[in-house]
Amino acid sequence: MSAGCLACGGSSLRLVHHLTGKGDARIVACEACTLVQLETRPTPAELEALYAGGYFEGVGKDAGYEAYSNQEAEYFATFDDDLRRIGEFLPGGTVLDVGCGYGYFVRRALAAGYDAYGIDLSAEGIQEAEKHAPGRFFRGTLGEVDSLAGRRFDVLFASHLIEHITEPAHFLATCVDHLTEEGLLVLVTPNVESWLARISGPRWVSFKIPEHVAYYSPRTMRRLLDDAGLEVVVTDPAYQFYRLPFLMSRIRELIRPVDRLLPGFENWPWLRQRTLRVTSGSMRVLARPRSTAEASG
Ligand SMILES: [Zn+2]
Repeated sequence: MSAGCLACGGSSLRLVHHLTGKGDARIVACEACTLVQLETRPTPAELEALYAGGYFEGVGKDAGYEAYSNQEAEYFATFDDDLRRIGEFLPGGTVLDVGCGYGYFVRRALAAGYDAYGIDLSAEGIQEAEKHAPGRFFRGTLGEVDSLAGRRFDVLFASHLIEHITEPAHFLATCVDHLTEEGLLVLVTPNVESWLARISGPRWVSFKIPEHVAYYSPRTMRRLLDDAGLEVVVTDPAYQFYRLPFLMSRIRELIRPVDRLLPGFENWPWLRQRTLRVTSGSMRVLARPRSTAEASG
């Protein structure tokens, strides 16, 4: 499926990268709104098949999250950082994690005193999440789960979700329907203008084909939010916590084939368990509904 720019509908798309190592994918930028995106997007049926089973355990070579459940401590640390930032604006209230996976964010949000819930497409993710916080998870997409109809949350959190979505305007409209008037929408997504993206070129770790269909910059994200009636409160660089061997595997992929010259120090016993906070090449955007007064003024 290829149908012009997924943000503005523009038909003039300029080639940015031709990824030959990842299934011959073309990354293009819209001449009208500058959004970087995958030229040939998967169909809804192909996406459903992709997320249906095993996604979180990295079944399939490039798809999904490698050994997601082995990185619990790192995810907790990353989400605690997000919650600290959210707490500066909204120290309590209801939270919905959209694309909650195994429910790690929900568990940390509960520990931080929020009334937290999660929603995900993956039955496997929901099943695992329910073991730790029963009754707080919904399976499906936001806007299609009956028990969430008409419910509004103080915080909607969507980490590494919007880059998967082929109709982002529709997604954000649904978010607005589920957000309180003073609520916060928190999006974490790869930043195509981050220094990591710039130095990595076509080897950028966030070029995940075919599931990442859109690659935002602070500017394209702001425009998309603005069109949905949301105003950006703050945009932060996103950090993630990684154990050294995982981090080194990313670095080796980036500098292949000269990575052979690097000694395998990350496997030394006293370094294996080291956890480092590093930039993920992503951004964290906090946005809220524009007030009616501002919107009309
Ligand atoms: Zn466009």
